[in-house]
Amino acid sequence: MDHMEEKILSIIDAHADELQALADDIFHHAEQGYHEYRTAQLVADYLKKLGLKTREGLAITGVKAAIGKGTGPNVALIGELDAVSCPTHPDASDKGYAHACGHYAQITCMLGAALALSDPEVAASLDGTATIFAVPAEEFQDASVREEVRRTHDVHCAGGKCELLRRGEFDDVDLAVTTHSLMVGREEGIDLMLGNSACTGFIGKTVYMHGRAAHAAAAPHLGANALNAACLGMSALGMVRETFEEKDCVRVHPYIRKGGEAINVVPSEVIVDMMVRANTQEAIEKVSAKVDNCFKGAAMAIGCQAEIVDCQGYMPCPERLPEDILWDTAKLLGDQVKVASIPAGRCNTASTDVGDLFAVMPVLNFTFGGSTGDLHSKDYKVSDPNAAHILPAKMMALLAYRLLKNGAAEARKIVDGYQAPYTMEQYKDYVKKMSD
Ligand SMILES: [Zn+2]
Repeated sequence: MDHMEEKILSIIDAHADELQALADDIFHHAEQGYHEYRTAQLVADYLKKLGLKTREGLAITGVKAAIGKGTGPNVALIGELDAVSCPTHPDASDKGYAHACGHYAQITCMLGAALALSDPEVAASLDGTATIFAVPAEEFQDASVREEVRRTHDVHCAGGKCELLRRGEFDDVDLAVTTHSLMVGREEGIDLMLGNSACTGFIGKTVYMHGRAAHAAAAPHLGANALNAACLGMSALGMVRETFEEKDCVRVHPYIRKGGEAINVVPSEVIVDMMVRANTQEAIEKVSAKVDNCFKGAAMAIGCQAEIVDCQGYMPCPERLPEDILWDTAKLLGDQVKVASIPAGRCNTASTDVGDLFAVMPVLNFTFGGSTGDLHSKDYKVSDPNAAHILPAKMMALLAYRLLKNGAAEARKIVDGYQAPYTMEQYKDYVKKMSD
């Protein structure tokens, strides 16, 4: 371990109580995606206290600050600001949001990394830039929220990272470091899981089923029942599921946002929202076309019209097994820390807008333990605050330092070795096509 690595660890240890208090504060003030005003303010205040210059209000609530020389590779250290809708969680906010996906811990970890890296001696040792980047809205939002933020803030993308990419806020970033609460490996007591499994991507789909209202008892023959058509569409979807191929990791999960108008009226408008997920863009498109046919056919059968609106979701994530720098960095945290690699060949059927970062740049990821209970459930809680907050802060800070020390050789190696599926311009064109 070199002097700077020792210093990074000792700075974080010396401020562990302060970071734990921040974690507790953010955890107990969970906020919805694109509405994380309080959390964003907390982040900005902390970064300013460290003497950093912040850019705020990026895609509504994003906050960014740069540490380092301003030349050489730019490594973004990402923390997600949003919580998940989980009204039954014991720590849910008045609006029903809770940090049941552990994003508050990412913010703590990112701030711990900012604390250590902004030390003047450490900052001077970086041959590049570490961009501290708190990003909004990782969790996919309901169509009603997407419509609201588009109207009020000109936000085109459901995913915060997608929107920041669209706005050019990642144009100067070469490599991203992300982290998340552990998804697999909790039973084994893993502290740090290195790398990331492949994840599905998806599109958001809304079916507006238009029928005709009529007296539900006196004259149903004069109506066209949009609820019946929507239900038939979902039954058809169930029947085409046998054609989904295992290799594509398909998930389609609809829910009814609006079921009709009144108890005694034939429903004239029913709205069904869903996500159509698979592990390649081609598979997503193939399945999406089948889903459309289900609802169009059902509409025809009942005498309704299906208006189908697709919106940009997230891109699939490739599997990335851990490179040496992740293993070497984790080793600095001591033998008592239980480190593992993500299991190879696994598809995580959930999705993340980190997939959109992968579309244009390399991403290094690790996940951290210290929590129990399923993600997105009322049972999610922290069981070991050190493992959930302090250890990943050390990991992120050390990783940034090791990427950027010695002429940023490690960062350059990873950036040069990555073949991004899209250029930034191609990605922005794709967003434009999806969101116009
Ligand atoms: Zn999450």
